Amino acid sequence: MVVEMHAGLASDGGSKLKMLLTFVDALPTGNEEGIYYSIDLGGTNFRVLRVEVGAGSVIIGQMVEQQPIPDELTKGTTEDLFNFVALALKSFLEGENDLDGKRALGFTFSFPVRQTSVSTGSLIRWTKGFSIGDTVGKDVAQCLNEALANCGLNVRVTALVNDTVGTLALGHYYDEDTVAAIIIGSGTNACYIERTDAIIKCQGLLTNSGGMVVNMEWGNFWSSHLPRTPYDILLDEETHNRNDQGFEKMISGMYLGEIARLVLHRMALESDVFGDAADSLSNPFILSTPFLAAIREDDSPDLSEVRRILQEHLKIPDAPLKTRRLVVKVCDIVTRRAARLAAAGIAGILKKLGRDGSGVASSGRTRGQPRRTVVAIEGGLYQGYPVFREYLDEALVEILGEVARNVTLRVTEDGSGIGAALLAAVHSSNRQQQGGPI
Ligand code: ADP
Ligand code: MG
Repeated sequence: MVVEMHAGLASDGGSKLKMLLTFVDALPTGNEEGIYYSIDLGGTNFRVLRVEVGAGSVIIGQMVEQQPIPDELTKGTTEDLFNFVALALKSFLEGENDLDGKRALGFTFSFPVRQTSVSTGSLIRWTKGFSIGDTVGKDVAQCLNEALANCGLNVRVTALVNDTVGTLALGHYYDEDTVAAIIIGSGTNACYIERTDAIIKCQGLLTNSGGMVVNMEWGNFWSSHLPRTPYDILLDEETHNRNDQGFEKMISGMYLGEIARLVLHRMALESDVFGDAADSLSNPFILSTPFLAAIREDDSPDLSEVRRILQEHLKIPDAPLKTRRLVVKVCDIVTRRAARLAAAGIAGILKKLGRDGSGVASSGRTRGQPRRTVVAIEGGLYQGYPVFREYLDEALVEILGEVARNVTLRVTEDGSGIGAALLAAVHSSNRQQQGGPI
């Protein structure tokens, strides 16, 4: 991971890790004030948020409205998608009786974007099952601004951020030792605070703080050291984005259930453990990750929840206890591998930052006392699946040893959206504050 981070920082295309500039060189300090909105468009769910902040890291009020993104919109047109988003914001503002004011909007858009400023950037490619051909290459903030204007709204995007960056912003707002953020939801990604002089591919990049948040797009991480199974290859072949997002396809919520389904399907073909039920197991994505989690977390002595899921969702009636145990085991292995890979990735970032206890930062500088390090983390898979969390924590301790005591993983609920609203505050023209050094 560290080698690939260096390569991605050295040149565009130098690594599968894109290491994207975010132009976020200042993070909220806690002195922001006012009402800000944000939109979080990330994969499975779509959120509209209103955040009211007062001085001193106080979030006075927040409102979150969430809805699933209709499937047809993920494969339709750019216009339809952004109109849907703009109309959702409009009805939210109507509900808040706040249609008239000029408002700054944070736009969390969790796909790889080539940013040209903190509020502009073009889509590099879709991930997480989205495939809307004509969006690639377009400025997504401009797309949203146009849709907002068409709806008659006096709201403009002042911060276009990745979900990781929003999460880092909220983490940092609460705790200045926060240096990185991880998302483990439908997809997975990470960002961290890098020194501008280490971003070699952008010579002469100057920021007031001397640092900039880098969006790693770690879902696309790949390395010959990463053992790939036949199931990973089969899964890849089923997706819109073949040969990309290899790390994400081993870790995130969009894929874990499907990996387990592929394993179970092979077992059904090569043995008679599932009787005649092999047919239903041949349906791609029939086992969702929340079901995989429920199977793994069934602690009833006769695995009755496993029986119910097999029967109702996989159309496998009457699986004997021995078979149900086997299914639990498969779900466990898939979960454990994902959590351990995510932990290894986090350890990689800490190593790059010289905070993994090896004593030497990647810049060659020797560090003194270990420093307290906070990593903000969020996402439906991490937050909704305790066993995944336990495996991740366990692996991080295994990798870091003693140093793990100085490392805190902090869940920032709705951080991707709230953080974007805070960044909108930092970067809006009527700001009180310039944001703080990072
Ligand atoms: P996004 O922001 O990408 O829409 P979220 O962070 O809301 O994603 O996470 C949603 C994903 O998390 C779902 O697609 C699902 O795969 C996974 N997920 C949600 N709840 C659970 C759960 N209880 N157990 C396991 N996975 C879950
Ligand atoms: Mg999200």
